[in-house]
Amino acid sequence: MKVPDMKMHIMDSKKIILKSIDEIKLMHESAQLVSKTLGLIAKEIKPGVTTLFLDKLAEEFIRDNGGKPGFLGMYDFPNTLCVSPNYEVVHGIPNNKPLSDGDIISIDCGVLKNGFYGDHAYTFKIGQVSDKVEKLLDTALESLYIGIQEFKLGNRVGDISHAIQAHNESNGYGVVRELVGHGLGKDLHEAPEIPNYGKKGNGKKFQNGMVIAIEPMINMGTEKVVFLKDGWTVETADKLPSVHFEHDVALIDGKPRLLSTFDFIYESLGIKSEEENEFKWNEASS
Ligand code: MG
Ligand code: MG
Repeated sequence: MKVPDMKMHIMDSKKIILKSIDEIKLMHESAQLVSKTLGLIAKEIKPGVTTLFLDKLAEEFIRDNGGKPGFLGMYDFPNTLCVSPNYEVVHGIPNNKPLSDGDIISIDCGVLKNGFYGDHAYTFKIGQVSDKVEKLLDTALESLYIGIQEFKLGNRVGDISHAIQAHNESNGYGVVRELVGHGLGKDLHEAPEIPNYGKKGNGKKFQNGMVIAIEPMINMGTEKVVFLKDGWTVETADKLPSVHFEHDVALIDGKPRLLSTFDFIYESLGIKSEEENEFKWNEASS
């Protein structure tokens, strides 16, 4: 089976659902629970660990914190996490194969809490990775924030899409076409679609109260992907590595405000980062 976000232009026929500040506060909680789950997983990722182990850990943590795994059972997906190592792009299914030194793994996690979804993703390194992979990771992560910067009043979807595409393609990388970011709310996939490629000034206009998931999926080589017969796993056509980063962002007072954070991951990994500072949302002032 194919999930709706694998098919373009399904979500865009739906109406954009704007959220009140109180609803955005609830969505902040859902997104933060995903962030904390990824932070917990970051501590456990090492050679020898299986993705099924990580999946169980995530499910327990989400339930212990008053949430439900957002992906489990959605379009019949069998697990809590989507785990996509190396040349898998997205939607990989957890299994018993141990992680190895030098691998990368994209972990996408969803939570349903208080009726709202959180949905975000990070690509982790297992041990030491090559310089080439390191550069791919850095570039894709930079493009996430370059995209977030375009989520402001006066802009349109194409401004995010174009910015993400330009940054990655100018570094020689392939930008996946078949999978896209999306609106987020009481449904995991709401309008509008947020492609990672497009034209400046095109597409739906941004409005305060919009909440979207921006999620560049970037390949070291060709942009072309293959959908496997398991109905889920998406791989690069040339079997070169692919990375995926995803944040949930609300448009508040004309500016992009992060509902998710990689801070818990960075805390677990001992990384110092200021990349999110300008997008932090101070709930108390809204
Ligand atoms: Mg998403
Ligand atoms: Mg996701």
